[in-house]
Amino acid sequence: MKDPCAHCEEMMQPYLDHVLTDEEMAAAEAHLAECEPCRRRYRFEESLRVYVRKAANEQMPAELRQKLAALRIPLE
Ligand SMILES: [Zn+2]
Repeated sequence: MKDPCAHCEEMMQPYLDHVLTDEEMAAAEAHLAECEPCRRRYRFEESLRVYVRKAANEQMPAELRQKLAALRIPLE
């Protein structure tokens, strides 16, 4: 059986980009609703995106943006 969390991780970025189909979206949401680690990871990714977007609006230096990108390592 496929690990639902591994699948969830695959879905995470497209989910945050809102490029999933309604069906995939529903599946991702259903999993997040019952899986604490994935929910935490999702919140982390989401807050990171908000931060990056905000920072981008403030014309963040490219060097700092690279440092932020480097933070996006798998949480394991
Ligand atoms: Zn999970």
